[in-house]
Amino acid sequence: MNARRTTKPIYVGDVKVGGDAPITVQSMTKTDTRNVEATVAQIRGLEEVGCDIIRSAVPDMEAAKALPEIKKRINIPLVADIHFHYQLALEAIKGGVDMLRLNPGNIRDPDKVKEVVRAAKERDIPIRIGVNFGSLPPVGAIGKSRGFSRHSDMVNTLPKYEDASEGDYTVVDHMVDTALWEISILEALDFDLIKISMKAFDVPTTLEAYRRIADMVPYPLHLGITEAGTVRAGSIRSAIGLGMLLYEGIGDTIRVSLSGDSKDEVASGYDILRSLNMRQRGTTLVACPSCGRADVDVIKLANTVDNMLKTMNKDIKVAVMGCEVNGPGEAKDADVGIAAGAGRAIIFRKGQKARVVAEDEMLSALMEEVEKT
Ligand code: SF4
Repeated sequence: MNARRTTKPIYVGDVKVGGDAPITVQSMTKTDTRNVEATVAQIRGLEEVGCDIIRSAVPDMEAAKALPEIKKRINIPLVADIHFHYQLALEAIKGGVDMLRLNPGNIRDPDKVKEVVRAAKERDIPIRIGVNFGSLPPVGAIGKSRGFSRHSDMVNTLPKYEDASEGDYTVVDHMVDTALWEISILEALDFDLIKISMKAFDVPTTLEAYRRIADMVPYPLHLGITEAGTVRAGSIRSAIGLGMLLYEGIGDTIRVSLSGDSKDEVASGYDILRSLNMRQRGTTLVACPSCGRADVDVIKLANTVDNMLKTMNKDIKVAVMGCEVNGPGEAKDADVGIAAGAGRAIIFRKGQKARVVAEDEMLSALMEEVEKT
């Protein structure tokens, strides 16, 4: 695993992102932001599962005006996601949000950009520039604010990085150029509380875009794969994309975007970090896949234990294994585990037998041991 890239940290509320801070896990609300009750309830639920930072879309003034009340009732930093409208950004800043996700190039009028940046600076509110394959400026329009139609942006005709011939201007080039342009707008206003994301659905494109920008700027990176898909497919796609970058030392905060419950986004985020031994939060379940040697219904047992562990906020690794022969050895780095035998079960700690219990007591005995650990 490569050493982590050195970045200039920022603070999103009281959460440090970049530098030596732990990699944070983010999500986004899926409620109508104007509905304060529903949005607060969703954020509270996400706080319980360990979400570090939450983002909410701010599509109109009513949503912007709901932010102070939401902010008052939650405990994690709130990021306002804004496109195009500088008034919404000003209102969000006034409302006490902890960060803006906003592309200054979309605001077009330099005086309005200046106004937003000045307000953000006054309150030390960082800005995330979100370069997204789906909303890149038209080819040839970087640095220009008028005269180009988004309907003929020509982005889709750009070759992918891996299909390009030498000298071709690729999708990745366009993403990187867009990011550098957006960054330069903020830097020209002497603003450096910046975080960047470079998202695409295509994993190789995303990897290359992040690698390139990582070498060019000192800012922390927010990793994500856009429109990743449903819980299963999206988690796998994100785990591959984000996992590779994190392994290379790139990335300071992550969001797994799923067409599913935001809690699943957070759970998948932590699973990615846990898989790389980067961050441990809550329980890790080691479970064997079951096979012809299994003495118990491992799948059912593993799912039952998984559900019971979810309610615990304990940094512990628990194993559920289907047989005595291989179970304790295969899961020897688990803090506590269970290996089923014919009519009984062995409870083990770090691969060593701790006690033997009857099969009908194995679940309660396992949970007792977990409590003790
Ligand atoms: S632990 Fe036992 S039951 Fe589970 S997969 Fe390994 S050999 Fe099969």
